[in-house]
Amino acid sequence: MSYTTQMDAARKGILTKEMKAVAEKENFDPQELMRLVAEGKVAIPANKRHTCLEPNGIGSMLKTKINVNLGTSRDCSDLDMELKKVNDAVAMGAESIMDLSSFGDTGKFRRKLTSECPAIIGTVPIYDAVVYYHKPLKEITSREWIDIVKMHAEDGVDFMTIHIGINKNTADRFKEAKRLTNIVSRGGSIIFAWMEMTGLENPFFEHFDEILEICQEYDITLSLGDACRPGCIADASDISQIEELITLGELTQKAWNKNVQVIIEGPGHMPLDQIAANMKIQQTLCKGAPFYVLGPLVTDIAPGYDHITAAIGGAIAAASGASFLCYVTPAEHLRLPDLDDVKEGIIASRIAAHAADIAKGIRGASDWDQKMSEARKRLDWEKMFDLSIDPEKARRYRATGKPEKEDTCSMCGNFCAVKNMNRILEGEIVSIYDE
Ligand code: SF4
Repeated sequence: MSYTTQMDAARKGILTKEMKAVAEKENFDPQELMRLVAEGKVAIPANKRHTCLEPNGIGSMLKTKINVNLGTSRDCSDLDMELKKVNDAVAMGAESIMDLSSFGDTGKFRRKLTSECPAIIGTVPIYDAVVYYHKPLKEITSREWIDIVKMHAEDGVDFMTIHIGINKNTADRFKEAKRLTNIVSRGGSIIFAWMEMTGLENPFFEHFDEILEICQEYDITLSLGDACRPGCIADASDISQIEELITLGELTQKAWNKNVQVIIEGPGHMPLDQIAANMKIQQTLCKGAPFYVLGPLVTDIAPGYDHITAAIGGAIAAASGASFLCYVTPAEHLRLPDLDDVKEGIIASRIAAHAADIAKGIRGASDWDQKMSEARKRLDWEKMFDLSIDPEKARRYRATGKPEKEDTCSMCGNFCAVKNMNRILEGEIVSIYDE
């Protein structure tokens, strides 16, 4: 029996090799996974042309996945450097790479990714259209925006962010409602400006049926972009954000009617106490479609540390229903991230994802912590390094603070509670003072 997309296959009862791979990786019942894919609660982004892909499933009942944004820009157009970041990101556990290139030969980099990289590859066609057509924004035609979507599909990308929620209706609501930081989504600001200058409807919204046909042909997962994601905590959960989310919910159903897989993009900046409620609203309006969040950053005042503000929000979001975290680096709001920024962003995001997985009771998540705690109790330093989320840093820190007693660390030395408890419970004398 033939099928178009993973969702189509699941609805026909076909267990694809991608579903089998995801079920095995997640230690999940294949039939149950197939049911969730059929319902749209799990997406397996897998373009038929991305043949080196090692598939992953995105859904709140699976392990939380992380995405790393990379790509060339006018200020940093070194392809080799970006590829090094991609390879490092995959080695560090990123399941997804979004190529946000906005300068130079973007097609060459994109095709290199889909021919060599085993991670899920995502793109934002809006950025590329501006580079590709080499003409003022206003002169790009509705047809040309759609052609870029087709081009990315042919190049093998697994998912695309399409800023479709900001149609004429939501744009009018946004202008009426006013907000502190307007639209901070790069793609959202571009398409809003285009709509304002041309007076035309959002081309992705107007030609959604055609986009769905492209998605069916290649099995592209649509990542419905949130142009109105709050860019500061003052704008969180406002009329623009919720209005757009309602539109995204309606479009989710339209996509599912054509067996096209969907994930929904979300905030943004958001106070801690609003995050769980936002996850619930999204799950309700978008009928359980996987939620992909950028952060959320729980405060606006920490440039240089936004990997931390995002990890705090990401952990709460994922524990409350989000299934896909977009990493945020310390360079957020300041510059394009360098290799160290990328590493710090990935580690912070992985910690958030893992913390959420423990809270959600994802199968096997807390086993890792169990092993670490056992090694800690034994003061087995080599094992602790091996189990660390960043073994290199753990080793470096211990090496640069050598303790007098090799089995302890320089934090407490012979006051080491772990060592002393092990000894006293084994019947030894614990003197501390003269040891
Ligand atoms: S010395 Fe202190 S911090 Fe270090 S392992 Fe022992 S109890 Fe833990």
